[in-house]
Amino acid sequence: MLSSGLVQAAYIIAALLFIMSLAGLSKHETAKAGCWYGIVGMTIALVTTIFGPESKGTIFILIAMAIGGFIGVRKALKVEMTEMPELVAILHSFVGLAAVLVGFNSYGLHHDAVMPENLDAAAQALFVAEQAKLATIHNVEVFLGIFIGAVTFTGSVVAFGKLNGKINSKALMLPHRHKLNLAALVVSAILMIIFVNHPENIFPVLIMTAIALAFGWHLVASIGGADMPVVVSMLNSYSGWAAAAAGFMLSNDLLIVTGALVGSSGAILSYIMCKAMNRSFISVIAGGFGNDIQVSSDEEQGEHRETTAEEVAEMLKNASSVIITPGYGMAVAQAQYPVAEITQKLRDRGINVRFGIHPVAGRLPGHMNVLLAEAKVPYDVVLEMDEINDDFADTDVVLVIGANDTVNPAAMDDPNSPIAGMPVLEVWKAQNVIVFKRSMAVGYAGVQNPLFFKENTQMLFGDAKERVDDILKAL
Ligand code: NDP
Repeated sequence: MLSSGLVQAAYIIAALLFIMSLAGLSKHETAKAGCWYGIVGMTIALVTTIFGPESKGTIFILIAMAIGGFIGVRKALKVEMTEMPELVAILHSFVGLAAVLVGFNSYGLHHDAVMPENLDAAAQALFVAEQAKLATIHNVEVFLGIFIGAVTFTGSVVAFGKLNGKINSKALMLPHRHKLNLAALVVSAILMIIFVNHPENIFPVLIMTAIALAFGWHLVASIGGADMPVVVSMLNSYSGWAAAAAGFMLSNDLLIVTGALVGSSGAILSYIMCKAMNRSFISVIAGGFGNDIQVSSDEEQGEHRETTAEEVAEMLKNASSVIITPGYGMAVAQAQYPVAEITQKLRDRGINVRFGIHPVAGRLPGHMNVLLAEAKVPYDVVLEMDEINDDFADTDVVLVIGANDTVNPAAMDDPNSPIAGMPVLEVWKAQNVIVFKRSMAVGYAGVQNPLFFKENTQMLFGDAKERVDDILKAL
């Protein structure tokens, strides 16, 4: 058994490692080191907690961890890069569920401290008052922890369903949905007051749990496809707060710190995503965005032109500047490797090749950056949307590889578009735009893309990886 002093010292080291991990993850070059800091920090945290003075039934914990670890490693090894977003969503749901379970257990396990002997009457009264205060604080922690955990749990399950297509990504529009949400919050607040005054009765907690589960479900179900990036980061934040709440209930300082780090970094990410999409956080939460889809037929948009891999190869050979804007389709096709090869080939010919990354491209924050890093594309040619958007006008060829919503000019031109106002990569300003996709199908937000019908755009149909391979051959 480790002493409590040693455990506290280890916790401080682990907390520092988590902060270093977050700092590392903020840049490509240091991301790998950031991962390692996190792994080491978590190992220290687990070992010192399991073998710390507060821990009992170590053997059961180890058996449970071995089973959970086995399932986790198997799943992680099998998961495709395209399934990462839903994996992250379902992992968030586990954090929520854990907070609910910790809440109920912590309610059942809380006992008042035994009054020391030889106290005079005044000291006894003080002791009783102090215990009552602590019990109230603990009950509030239990109530809030279960509430946040339950919202995170069902919200993440719905996000999981929406991301893997099992649940329709359209926003659920119940009548009076804002009033329903408000009622859920008000009733939960009243239940908390009742529970804190009568902690021996767990009934209010049970009712609140049912309400919170429904609230979490409804909250995410009523958010439309186009707002999903914010939802993913928002649930990331909630899972952090759920973990922090569990930390309070268990009086575990490291869990509080870790939860607060995840919670606040998730909140910052949500803010960045909102800014990237030009949406306010409140309007995302209020939901319904991306629903009033006016599906305009292809005829209304005009004619689209097709091209071949050989023609594109020829065009690339004659270009002096090329920008590649990848999207979700590149992830689906796993086209990042041939894309990296083309980049190298063109750069060897002295052509200026760069990447333009939209903040919500793909299905996860940083999705495209991860894929390109995996394929060893040099970091210095991978630029953010803001860094590259002014350069399209001076570009010979843009290769739009499996991107759709993030290059849709309707976001800027059509105020009635469901994605109106979202900043996009202004690829249509380049001399030639080649769009790699399999059909004329719409993107995640469900809107048709006028880019495909512009005069300087040509479609290269087929699986992105196969088409990029064809171009490589032709080069
Ligand atoms: P989109 O999801 O808008 O479109 C992807 C396109 O890729 C589709 O039009 C599809 O067309 C094409 N595609 C799919 N598979 C292939 C393939 N094998 N080969 C070639 N093309 C393929 O992509 P974007 O990245 O531009 O936009 C991301 C969208 O996802 C945004 O709406 C964003 O809000 C949303 N989102 C983003 C999240 C994030 O955190 N980044 C999280 C959740 C949602 P076709 O079927 O014709 O091939």
